[in-house]
Amino acid sequence: MDKSVSDQTKRYVYKNQRMFALVDRIKLWPSRSGVLHGVKVIEQRGNRLHVVTHCGEEFLVYDSKNSRSARWLRNRWCTCPCPACKIPAWKLSKYSSTVFTDSARSRT
Ligand SMILES: [Zn+2]
Repeated sequence: MDKSVSDQTKRYVYKNQRMFALVDRIKLWPSRSGVLHGVKVIEQRGNRLHVVTHCGEEFLVYDSKNSRSARWLRNRWCTCPCPACKIPAWKLSKYSSTVFTDSARSRT
């Protein structure tokens, strides 16, 4: 755990920022059916996220670090990429090598 980073970022409201930061960084979305979609647009709308996938799905989700989507992303339970989204291989391999920590600030 990188304590210094989490201390520096304490001014951020994690519960509202984390899911957005996570998805905004990796640009992937796990659907309920276990399919991994590519994210075209993600916007913060109050305490919710507006997500548009490359295959045209559009939805609002609550931005919670404990949401199903956040858990699925962190645990990488979605292993089947959406064929319509045409997620590039580099993005999938980047995702599979991503380390999820308590501090969700972008370090790319
Ligand atoms: Zn898709």
